[in-house]
Amino acid sequence: MPDTAKTCEFKAEIRQLLDILVHSLYTKKEIFLRELVSNASDALDKYRFATAGEAEADLGIQIALDKDQKTLTVTDNGLGMTRDELAANLGTIAHSGSAEFLKRAAESKQGLDSLIGRFGVGFYSVFMVADEVVVRTKSHLEGEAAMEWKSDGKGGYELRRLDQDLPRGTSVTLRLKDSVAGEFTSPETVKAVIRRHSNFISFPIQVDGERVNTVPALWREPKFQIKPEQYREFYSFLTFDDQEPLETMHVSVDAPVQFNGLLFIPGRGQDLFGLDRDSWGLDLYVKRVLIERQNKDLLPRHLGFVKGVVDTEDLPLNISRETLQDNLLIRKIQTTLTKHVLGHLEKAAKDDAGRYAEFWAAHGQMFKTGYLDFANREAFAGLLRFSSSALDDAKALTSLEEYASRAKEGQKAVFYATCPSFEAAALNPHLEMFRTKGVEVLYLFDPIDEFIMDALREFKGLALKAAEHAGAADLKDLPDVVKTKRPAKMAKKDQEAFPGFLDRIRDILGDKAAGVRASDRLRQSPCCLASPDGQTTSGMDRIMRVMARDAGLPKKILELNPDHELVRNMLQIYEADPKDPFLEQAAQQLFESAMLLEGFLDDPHALVGRLQDLLTKASAWYTNVKGPNDN
Ligand code: ADP
Ligand code: MG
Repeated sequence: MPDTAKTCEFKAEIRQLLDILVHSLYTKKEIFLRELVSNASDALDKYRFATAGEAEADLGIQIALDKDQKTLTVTDNGLGMTRDELAANLGTIAHSGSAEFLKRAAESKQGLDSLIGRFGVGFYSVFMVADEVVVRTKSHLEGEAAMEWKSDGKGGYELRRLDQDLPRGTSVTLRLKDSVAGEFTSPETVKAVIRRHSNFISFPIQVDGERVNTVPALWREPKFQIKPEQYREFYSFLTFDDQEPLETMHVSVDAPVQFNGLLFIPGRGQDLFGLDRDSWGLDLYVKRVLIERQNKDLLPRHLGFVKGVVDTEDLPLNISRETLQDNLLIRKIQTTLTKHVLGHLEKAAKDDAGRYAEFWAAHGQMFKTGYLDFANREAFAGLLRFSSSALDDAKALTSLEEYASRAKEGQKAVFYATCPSFEAAALNPHLEMFRTKGVEVLYLFDPIDEFIMDALREFKGLALKAAEHAGAADLKDLPDVVKTKRPAKMAKKDQEAFPGFLDRIRDILGDKAAGVRASDRLRQSPCCLASPDGQTTSGMDRIMRVMARDAGLPKKILELNPDHELVRNMLQIYEADPKDPFLEQAAQQLFESAMLLEGFLDDPHALVGRLQDLLTKASAWYTNVKGPNDN
């Protein structure tokens, strides 16, 4: 069948991408070479995988430069493309890195230019440097014809079957723009670009016949032979991150499974919920053959900030990607790697607290989602960091270990409180008792922290306990460190009236509150709230409500401080007249202020109106007591 060229339009999103790339001011246009070489390398990997590693040794990538014609050609003998594959792969961007780039470009607040460098833009980056691109390819599949794809990167492309046959693989020829033709037909420049971005490609790359890349499979080299800058180069090859990694781990394990791993922890975190969400995992090699990129079975999700490669001798080359998941060997590697990463972090935290703080800031969020990893519970707990009442400011962090070392003689628990901020913690009435006793309280700012505390339950013999559930009994053996003036003992008649007074307050609040009782833990505050079951913290309660879309108010117990002047005054008012309207106002106000402190406010109008009324009364009494101004 004679084949005439078929002209096809690019899909809208490709035109959009091309528009961004062609008009970009991005100066390092050389990354088009990184993309072409990486595609060639992928095609070779796939071919080697398809033939279960039996492929011949001459797999490789050739780059040919022609100064006169102003062309650059990248050729590989990988698996090639059929006609349909060609149209699908270079006509849509359904599954390519370019799709990812476009999504990011749409959401990016940074310049597009910096995005181009940091992410794989894919094949279409060639149009940053070329006026015309010709792809010739022949699939490794039996009976497929050699095909040609040609485009000027404007509106579409031409597809046709070639009359002559081609060897298996793909060649991409760029007719370079005049402005860059000199640069990218110079062998020295092109070699330098390859060394910069593609030095670790595991197939030989030749520029005009000369081998350029030198260090494949760095993870297999003996550690003592590797220079720090080689690790760094490999890291930026792998992640496109031009910053140094925070941590580098080179692992060689022989038992219970054999594997080599080269792992890194980047200095910056990734978006847990956004586009980066699935972009994690380690590249899995078997005997240097790439089996799967971003394999998600080699490390648990919460260590997804670790980037790198794992290479094992113990798996067969023809293992299918589907069976990796429940493969016993892979699970053993995961167990070993997890321990290794946690161990490395422990050591890093000990050696350099500042660097560990950087790690925590970048990846703590992701790390914390591992609270259900019971096998490594202790190591996990040891690596957590919290804000604390023992520290000077919100930025400083401490560990459970440090907390335990500061715990008072006879203290039985690690106490914690969910707080909206460091400043708010200072006003939390539940923490007054702790301040008086000088007992440290960890401040939890992140909703997940409470789930962690619930899951861990204890640390080195100390229970993990919410401060709001602690009563005086929890700290009774500990001496006061802050001397507070003990209030006068209640007169006998007041003591007798007190239970009736509590009943009256209960009546006033009605079913807004779950109850009213005397508190044994307050110092400066007149009141606080407690949960009826004594178990659900207010932080957890809030989360549950959000999840259940419950917009109502929680029912809490109001605890009154019998030693507080306000409460004593209210008691007097009650004794004089249990139905005094002032008592009603004061009770409502106390209750609503306490709810407000925990983040629940029903009706600001009622609260503010009542407050203004109370102020009016108070100011009248105040002037009476103080007498007329005698100036
Ligand atoms: P990505 O590599 O992220 O998938 P690209 O835009 O770089 O995206 O490439 C698009 C697709 O084109 C690839 O997924 C691949 O299927 C195909 N392709 C590109 N170059 C080659 C090549 N040299 N050999 C075989 N297929 C290729
Ligand atoms: Mg690519």
